[in-house]
Amino acid sequence: MTTPRKVYVKSFGCQMNVYDSHRMADTLAPAGYTETTQVGDADLIILNTCNIREKAADKVYSEIGRIGDLKAAAAANGRRVLIAVAGCVAQAESAEIIRRTNAVDLVVGSQNYYRLPNMIARLQAGQPIVDTEFPIEDKFDLLTQPSRVAIAKRGITSFVTAQEGCDKFCTFCVVPYTRGAEVSRPVEKIAAEVERLAAAGVREVTLIGQNVNAYHGDGVDDRPATLAQLLRRLAEVPGILRLRYTTSHPLDMNDDLIAAHGDLPALMPSAHLPVQSGSNRILAAMNRKHTRQYYLDVIARLRAVRSDIAFTSDFIVGFPGETEDDFRDTLTLVDEVGFAGAYSFTYSSRPGTPAAKMEPVPAAESAERLQRLQALITRHWRAFNASFVGRSVDVLLEKPGRFPGQLVGKTPYLQTVQVMARPELIGSVLPVRIAGTGTNTLFGAIAKPAHAPAFAIAGA
Ligand code: SF4
Repeated sequence: MTTPRKVYVKSFGCQMNVYDSHRMADTLAPAGYTETTQVGDADLIILNTCNIREKAADKVYSEIGRIGDLKAAAAANGRRVLIAVAGCVAQAESAEIIRRTNAVDLVVGSQNYYRLPNMIARLQAGQPIVDTEFPIEDKFDLLTQPSRVAIAKRGITSFVTAQEGCDKFCTFCVVPYTRGAEVSRPVEKIAAEVERLAAAGVREVTLIGQNVNAYHGDGVDDRPATLAQLLRRLAEVPGILRLRYTTSHPLDMNDDLIAAHGDLPALMPSAHLPVQSGSNRILAAMNRKHTRQYYLDVIARLRAVRSDIAFTSDFIVGFPGETEDDFRDTLTLVDEVGFAGAYSFTYSSRPGTPAAKMEPVPAAESAERLQRLQALITRHWRAFNASFVGRSVDVLLEKPGRFPGQLVGKTPYLQTVQVMARPELIGSVLPVRIAGTGTNTLFGAIAKPAHAPAFAIAGA
């Protein structure tokens, strides 16, 4: 009989970490841990960290200080609280974490968190355990599967890891060092996970990976399958209404994935395709291995098979050596593509990357360029949203909204929609007539009488 305890997991950064955080909680369940959303109630606090930008890493250290105080206060009341640091900062800076604080009990890398219960069992007072080696075993085979109740609690959309790691080595990026080389999970193991999710009420799956369209997991007869083949297999899973994938590299946007956007109805017409810069000179300095024209050709090929596809992207402003002319190339690229949204940041130097040795652009210049870029992206994003007013669009109703009687859902293009509807419609795709736009959402009304969803949500 295990002692009931509570775990609080705080996720920083990308969707990969959100997925890993869920799997950490699942893995700890057999050891008696239930998830809590109240950090003050927790017996184990896990920070699942991100190292992509300096600010993200700094946040982790200030968070460790804050929860270290909680841990000390609990100890003064005779209660033992453990602190674990997981994810990319743990992977890259384990020695630094131990050097800077004595509050942390466990430091666990992105590939090793399936060992958390064992690490906790081995803990001795005052002796932190660090486990950041890349293991030989496949962590996915060793992770505990979530219960139907745990899946249902997390809602009707789910991330599923298809691929991890990256072989591209962009000169600004820490991922190839923190997450290692590209590894893809076999098609049938992903399909089995998606079948379990669908049986518990999940209706939309987003396949995730640092470079997900480089997917090459074992398929039929153990031959490598492409992402498109994986998506076609998952589209057959009963209950799965929508499929998405993120994040992609333009070089890996191959012919069969483009074709799938044209003929696979479950594959949603949105693509997150980071470009980082519109300047060929900067793309080369970033080691992106593609040109501006190559990127624009990929966009054109996707639009040729699916004219309504909505593109989003990532931009880095003020990469070392970026001139005003280079930056203008980024602005014209944004205008040429007409992105439905984008993440944009000033360049952040990461220790150990090749770009960290390059001459930085003055911070004030980068900040001024970022403002101009974000203003332009916002204009395109608002125009994209405004183009839906008066139109009917299919919305997957996902969860209750902030107001009584309101539900929140997503369009195929990943816009958030608020609508008044009955809670039993969660999990249904219904046409919604868009009446207006807000800062981050669309508002509308269900366009025709609604029926109950074909699939009930387990435990809800
Ligand atoms: S492709 Fe993406 S994950 Fe890989 S090195 Fe470049 S930015 Fe990092």
